[in-house]
Amino acid sequence: MNANLYALFESHFPQDRSACCIETHDGLFYSWGDVERATAKIANLLANLKLPKDSRIAVQVEKSPEALILYLATLRAGHVYLPLNTAYREAEIDYFINDAQPAVVVCSPKNFGWVSKIAFQSGTTHVFTLGDDRHGSLLTRAAHLPDTFETVEKGPDELAAILYTSGTTGRSKGVMLTHDNLASNAKVLRDYWRWQEGDVLLHALPLFHIHGLFVASHGALINGSKMIFLPKFDAAQVMRQLPRATVFMGVPTYYVRLLAEPEFGTNTCANMRLFVSGSAPLLLDTFEEFTRRTGHTILERYGMSETAMQTSNPCDGERIGGTVGLPLPGVAVRVVKSDGTPCGVGEIGDIQVKGPNVFKGYWRMPEKTSEEFTADGYFKTGDVGRVDDKGYLSIVGRSKDLIISGGYNVYPKEIESFIDELDDVVESAVIGVPHPDYGEAVTAVVVTKPDAAMSESDVIGALKLKIAGFKVPKRVHFVPDLPRNTMGKVQKNVLREQFKDA
Ligand code: ATP
Ligand code: MG
Repeated sequence: MNANLYALFESHFPQDRSACCIETHDGLFYSWGDVERATAKIANLLANLKLPKDSRIAVQVEKSPEALILYLATLRAGHVYLPLNTAYREAEIDYFINDAQPAVVVCSPKNFGWVSKIAFQSGTTHVFTLGDDRHGSLLTRAAHLPDTFETVEKGPDELAAILYTSGTTGRSKGVMLTHDNLASNAKVLRDYWRWQEGDVLLHALPLFHIHGLFVASHGALINGSKMIFLPKFDAAQVMRQLPRATVFMGVPTYYVRLLAEPEFGTNTCANMRLFVSGSAPLLLDTFEEFTRRTGHTILERYGMSETAMQTSNPCDGERIGGTVGLPLPGVAVRVVKSDGTPCGVGEIGDIQVKGPNVFKGYWRMPEKTSEEFTADGYFKTGDVGRVDDKGYLSIVGRSKDLIISGGYNVYPKEIESFIDELDDVVESAVIGVPHPDYGEAVTAVVVTKPDAAMSESDVIGALKLKIAGFKVPKRVHFVPDLPRNTMGKVQKNVLREQFKDA
């Protein structure tokens, strides 16, 4: 059997190919037949280039149905899809293109000048453009080609995509994902989240990251469900479309922004079946307020570029706020101490994962790859967490964010949750900054509610009553917003730099 991921999707396309696969916010409809034919044309174009095996197709384009079609066409043609964040500029694209050495680069027409220069200098021979308005050389060149294509045979362990990590903790790494990594995860999530006939996905996430490209799109594709595509998240647009959808996926920021809309509530969500959150921690406050306002309980799940999804709150069972749920079927998740022995219930340790979802390795970093796996084949996620007596996992933070102050381990998330409970606080980030005496000093960066009159000593005083002295921040800084990347992740490295001498 052909293990090509596209073949799996195609086997779940609705019999009636005239049904709608993608609808855009501005009223365009793409049937399943349209998607089949358009992917065939682009796959023919790629096949005609006679590229070597495992060629990377690097893509930095604005979100559009054609961008998703290009991803599917790359799978069909048997090449390796490599999406790039649309926010990246010259220095970043230069790094990614030189690191990935793609055979083909596809960019926005407006960026052709500088992207093609970088691409040609690095040895890429084919550069195409693709706009979000159905224009660009990719489509022009593919237009005359046949609209049928025999999907290339792929083995389960062959590469389907290289995804660069978000670069939250350092330089982005290229994550090599196989057809089976993605297929196994798509199947598990379809069942675990109870995808069903009649589901409609409101798709507001970007297409260059695992969340929007794989978790969201794959869910709809493998269930033959329609997607309503928004070019980007916009609270008003989402509210307008939600009554026509049943499934929505977002990063926590999306939920915060929806709740900031006074009109958002039960009516807007009456047709909805499932709200999923991930990519960054969902604050308990947001989780609880969402239920109060809409009657829906957000389902939080946990994954990463290297492992796709690994744990999730259940669809049918209890969804517990502040946790990322249970290991997905077929995925082994464990929390271990620094010597590798298992942690007991409630004990904090390193999260490790094993399963068919776990990636093949970091692109051109064999040493880093082997460092990140244990002798018994578990991947070290770099996240720190604990499991409760019901088996639910909570993420405490990243091991790189762990603060060691005066020889004591301080887990930022614990301190943040105490600060967030204070009346005037919206949110906070706790970091370690170099300290001559303690090694690292616990430092809090706090966003307060508008008009709040809160001082550094208020925060320190309140915390002293609740937690051990070594955990209490030595300094508290107030900021209007926390720095976040496009996936809503707080960039603690930026804060550490900003406040290192403060
Ligand atoms: P880099 O590896 O380059 O530093 P990154 O880890 O942010 O970047 P991704 O692979 O996009 O890159 O993100 C995976 C990480 O996101 C996880 O390791 C975890 O820290 C975080 N994450 C994902 N889902 C959740 C969640 N529900 N709650 C808390 N953190 C989450
Ligand atoms: Mg990571």
